[in-house]
Amino acid sequence: MKIDLRSDTVTRPTPAMMQAMFLAKVGDDVFEEDPTINELEEKAAVLFGMEAGLFCASGTMTNQIAVNVHTRPGDEVILHKLSHLYYYEGGGMMRNSGVSVCLLEGERGMISAEDVENHINPADDVHRPLTTMVAVENTMNKGGGAVYDFNELLKIGQAAQKHKLTYHLDGARIFNALAVTEQSPADYGKIFDSISVCFSKGLGAPVGSVLLGSKDFIYKARRVRKIFGGGMRQAGYLAAAAIYALDHNVERLNEDHRKAKVMAETLKELNWVDEVLPVDTNILIFKTRPGLLAADVVKKLASEGLLCMDFDKQSIRLVTHLDFTDEMLEAAIRILKTIQIK
Ligand SMILES: *Cc1c(COP(=O)(O)O)cnc(C)c1O
Repeated sequence: MKIDLRSDTVTRPTPAMMQAMFLAKVGDDVFEEDPTINELEEKAAVLFGMEAGLFCASGTMTNQIAVNVHTRPGDEVILHKLSHLYYYEGGGMMRNSGVSVCLLEGERGMISAEDVENHINPADDVHRPLTTMVAVENTMNKGGGAVYDFNELLKIGQAAQKHKLTYHLDGARIFNALAVTEQSPADYGKIFDSISVCFSKGLGAPVGSVLLGSKDFIYKARRVRKIFGGGMRQAGYLAAAAIYALDHNVERLNEDHRKAKVMAETLKELNWVDEVLPVDTNILIFKTRPGLLAADVVKKLASEGLLCMDFDKQSIRLVTHLDFTDEMLEAAIRILKTIQIK
């Protein structure tokens, strides 16, 4: 049995999801005539209390489009130095939109309102790039699936408003955050100018993300999506999987969170593990004992059938998901407990 915990993107569509895909009514989405895509965009927008949505091929594309619409070349974007938007998108912000970045530090990949305020360049100083956007990520991947305190997000939003910055949420895993906090999607819709949501992560769809915002923002985003080569035609087959995911795979996310916590408890007792980072959601990061290379441990675990990812020299990431069963959880624990690591 292969247990693949490298990412929550490794899930495969279930027969029921595929059935929904097969039955989808489709049309040409560049003409805005795909009824299933229109339904998904509307459904996601309503859920988050935003005016409109745009279905895209990936979360990288929704993020990149947001930056492109919100900024002009030379503008500066404030975000955490480990945010996906900066760290994992191939330098796309700089390449696609020609922006400058102001990279903040912060515990578990999260930034604070105070730090944001302190890094907004004075708009009347011609020497400095003009700060026009701030972006946060929730849950925070590099921060171990960390969930923001909503109050901090509110305060960042207030700072953004005060200084006329646009405020973007990389909500690739926003439903994981929603599963463990009191807020509703609409609470997020109220404070952000744009939100990116992935269906291909914990929600278990094969492809796709949606970008949400005002009608005017989405109108502009649609043009940028075309320019980026992301105008798809009968992609309603994919949107059908996303609709299915919203209807069936949101409620169960705490199941993934529970499994991540169980594994964290196991890891804490192993002598080759130095530290297990706090587990808020479905991402679990742990550090290997000093001198023990994460990459070597990953190789060893893979040889036993447990796939995970080295995140840096001394840390390893495990991500639980829809296809990770209770039986696999037991097997994974057995592998972790019995593996011979020198
Ligand atoms: C996965 C992910 C994305 C988007 O990735 P794609 O693979 O392009 O869909 C964006 N932000 C975060 C935090 C992610 O984890």
